Amino acid sequence: MSIVSLKSSRIRSINDMPIDPSGDYILYWMTSSRRFHYNAGMDRAVELSLSLNKPVLVIECMSIRHDWANERILTFSVQGMLENIKIFDENNVTYLPWVETHKDSGSRLLAKLSSHACSVIVDEYPTYLPRTIMEKASKICKVNTEAADSNGILPMAWAGKEHMTAYSFRKHVQRSMADALLNLPMKNSMEGVSVNIRYDRQEMMSLFRAVEIEFTPLEWLWRVGEGGKISQQAMAPLDIDHEVKSVMKMKGGRIEALKRMEIFLEMNLNRYSTDRNNTENPAVSTLSPWFHFGHISTIEVVVELFKRSNWTYDMTCFEDMGKGTRSGWWGLSESEESFLDQIITWRELGFNFAHYRRDHKSIDSIPNWAKKSLQEHSKDERKPYTFDDIENARTDDEVWNAAQRELLRTGLIHNYMRMVWGKKILEWAPDPNTAADWMIQINDRWALDGRDPNSYTGIFWVLGRHDRAWGPERPVFGKVRYMTTESARRKLKLKNYISRWSENAPLPREIQRL
Ligand SMILES: Cc1cc2nc3c(=O)[nH]c(=O)nc-3n(C[C@H](O)[C@H](O)[C@H](O)COP(=O)(O)OP(=O)(O)OC[C@H]3O[C@@H](n4cnc5c(N)ncnc54)[C@H](O)[C@@H]3O)c2cc1C
Repeated sequence: MSIVSLKSSRIRSINDMPIDPSGDYILYWMTSSRRFHYNAGMDRAVELSLSLNKPVLVIECMSIRHDWANERILTFSVQGMLENIKIFDENNVTYLPWVETHKDSGSRLLAKLSSHACSVIVDEYPTYLPRTIMEKASKICKVNTEAADSNGILPMAWAGKEHMTAYSFRKHVQRSMADALLNLPMKNSMEGVSVNIRYDRQEMMSLFRAVEIEFTPLEWLWRVGEGGKISQQAMAPLDIDHEVKSVMKMKGGRIEALKRMEIFLEMNLNRYSTDRNNTENPAVSTLSPWFHFGHISTIEVVVELFKRSNWTYDMTCFEDMGKGTRSGWWGLSESEESFLDQIITWRELGFNFAHYRRDHKSIDSIPNWAKKSLQEHSKDERKPYTFDDIENARTDDEVWNAAQRELLRTGLIHNYMRMVWGKKILEWAPDPNTAADWMIQINDRWALDGRDPNSYTGIFWVLGRHDRAWGPERPVFGKVRYMTTESARRKLKLKNYISRWSENAPLPREIQRL
């Protein structure tokens, strides 16, 4: 038995198993789009539920068996879960947050719960743990299993191949935009649904008892999400990285994301094209961690921007369509267009590349001209910094140290400084391969938005991916784009930035640790 999805471009079957109409529920295994709104997985779960007349069970899981499991990541995701409990309940959908509180307690969880399901839906995500889970699900689940792509405005499947440049991807974006806007997930998949699709709580309790799965205690989740000592004590027994602490003001969940979206769209978007790189008062959304954990969708931000600008598709410049020009084709202001180029073209280029290229986390993925040029300069002299010097911000470059401390303390780096941060690691590491490895290790460990397709877009952009050759040829960099902290000093006013992130500076009040 198969039920064709109305939103088929975002849904694909990942095994050859049939739907089991005698199962107890439709299982939605939520691993990256950790939200109710604008979620293709929710759309599909509701669609199957109504066709089969079976309830929906949504499980949001958090493993502690991944490479970078730490307090920062866990607190942020649990804060999102606590809000999701309320949001799903208000929308009449049965939702259960589940955190692996000791290693291996999650083993076979999916196998056990999918064996009682009619059909399984899992998030489609092109990298890191959610990708591994999706691939494992295709083998573990013995019923029809589908992957749902809620990652961005364009379904990843539409590109058909990886794009090497933003220019070529932008052409694809322009050609596909009209169809993409008709294929967005719904803001609320339950809109207009009058039948009860909740999975009965008593049945769920007895099922969990029968398959020997323990619920994650709500009280423990609450303590983790609370922050401060309470949170640290709750996480203390877990086998995770306790050095990477949570950060106040970086509160996971939809409420904080909506607040930041509101401030950005109302107060900062109009300065985006001029003040994005301003280190004092940058006109940016700061939403990347919430996008990364799926607490809010970029689709929601783009739709809100369209609404507030009264934008309709007939405002696009049809002559420019498909030519790959960066601005002028939306028929919006320079700032709005420049933001849309980042949140759609640049962000989704990263998803596109990771989706089609298994080697997206490897130096093999950089273009040949960059490989050749970096190789030709591999013996050039470098500073003898160790990984420890770099990770602990112990270099002679105070601008760079400031950027690294910003990352250690807040989980983010200002966008322009992030480019300089990467370029200096390339300059200092013993060779380009080690530079890539060090950037990945530091970014994935400390950045709240790390482990994302755009982590690897940014890191490999430093090494020439999605870029062109530049002259004059320089030591170490060869023809790869050169950037220095001196040029950043000339371009940006960095005095306050450096003192804000100096070694002994107290943490700014707004980001004190939880
Ligand atoms: C070395 C290096 C590492 C990076 N690591 C990450 C990472 O781990 N996670 C991550 O999300 N981004 C990463 N980036 C890209 C970029 O720096 C961040 O996306 C951006 O700074 C996030 O801030 P914001 O949310 O305020 O962005 P805004 O300017 O408000 O933009 C909105 C959204 O558009 C997307 N976006 C913006 N700029 C870029 C860009 N240059 N490339 C791709 N997408 C972009 C992001 O999703 C961002 O949240 C990295 C860049 C570099 C050079």
